[in-house]
Amino acid sequence: MSTQPLSMQEILRIDQQHIWHPYASFQSHNPLFVVDRAEGVHLHLASGETLIDGMSSWWSTLHGYNHPELNAAAQAQMGKMAHVMFGGFTHEPAARLAAHLVRLSPDGLNKVFFSDSGSVAVEVALKMAIQYWHAKGQTRTRMLTIKRGYHGDTFAAMSVCDPVTGMHTLFSEAIMPQLFAEQPRCRFDGHWDEKDADSFLQLLETHEQDIAAVILEPIVQGTGGMHFYHPNYLKTVREATEARGIPLIADEIATGFGRTGRLFACEHADITPDILCLGKTLSAGYLTLAATLCSDTVAETICSAEPGVFMHGPTFMGNPTACAVAARSIELLEEHHWASQVQNLERALQRGLAPCRDIAGVREVRVLGGIGVVEMDEPVDLKLWQPAFVRHGIWLRPFGRLIYMMPPYISTEDDIARLCEGLLNTLKEQLRAA
Ligand SMILES: *Cc1c(COP(=O)(O)O)cnc(C)c1O
Repeated sequence: MSTQPLSMQEILRIDQQHIWHPYASFQSHNPLFVVDRAEGVHLHLASGETLIDGMSSWWSTLHGYNHPELNAAAQAQMGKMAHVMFGGFTHEPAARLAAHLVRLSPDGLNKVFFSDSGSVAVEVALKMAIQYWHAKGQTRTRMLTIKRGYHGDTFAAMSVCDPVTGMHTLFSEAIMPQLFAEQPRCRFDGHWDEKDADSFLQLLETHEQDIAAVILEPIVQGTGGMHFYHPNYLKTVREATEARGIPLIADEIATGFGRTGRLFACEHADITPDILCLGKTLSAGYLTLAATLCSDTVAETICSAEPGVFMHGPTFMGNPTACAVAARSIELLEEHHWASQVQNLERALQRGLAPCRDIAGVREVRVLGGIGVVEMDEPVDLKLWQPAFVRHGIWLRPFGRLIYMMPPYISTEDDIARLCEGLLNTLKEQLRAA
């Protein structure tokens, strides 16, 4: 094959013949756009259009695309070594990043395990919990979680995803059976009713001797429904698990690093989990990187008994380029005053999305931090809606009845206003056409 650049048509042809996309089919193609380059909040398509990004490439691109400082961090590291094995070696980027993570995460999480994606960070967390009990001489393998959660696509992660909207039916013979409490009903900013945690507390009590860990997404259930629940639910879960000595795993792969208005969503309830999963937001959308943090107690227990080591070690563990970018991203969050960036996003999203409430077909509009959600009465058809968003100059990717946005933190008031206006116009157009 020649080294000539491929034309847009050639790219699309090769893609359609050979490349899988997320949750996609080779038989019925969803619309696909060739993106050529991106800068700040703008995505430039090969067809010539420029779109305002509302997705941060699935929560990740906090500082926008093609950021000079992050580019410099990656380039400087690549000039030294793009990668080196982590068995027997350590390096500055990993040390620098780990120090930032320990300093900024909820108190008491002092041990960091690096891996390559969110799902793997969840697998690592679940293995830590099982090995923790093994070290204490107990066999405990079941996980307790809440319905409508999402924790990734690998097997163990899949087993703690929502049993209905997740992949449980398809893979039921192959995945571990877990325990599912009812989804919390009390809203983030609503009235707290203690009964909300009854289902959870009952399962915890009944199965106490079998449960290796509780895993949940703190405050924001993302992919499972973009639901914002009450901090007291999280407090109750923390108190009950602590009282029984059961590790609590907080999956902050989507919510970490400021997205909900607090640096970590756990802070809304002022709790520290025993194990914390980070991913997506960690490396600012540059390279694939994840981390699983744990308490000294979890780490020391695991290492105190046979086999004396934690049994996991991915090839690309602690990838220096990814760590260098992630460390720089955290420094940028602090330099840019992320808290006021996210507050501005929240205000602009509240203002910009408010008019959607008056449109028939919209069930609810909700905003938390840098997350805006427009929940529809009916599922939206990607085949029609995605090209419509593109025509209106914005990039959103709805799923089911949910149209949601989590724009890069660097978005200006004007960017958000244009994003919301594009959404409003698409809503009017598509609902009229329906
Ligand atoms: C996306 C996500 C994951 C999985 O991360 P991947 O990098 O896609 O494997 C796990 N948990 C939560 C909460 C997520 O949002």
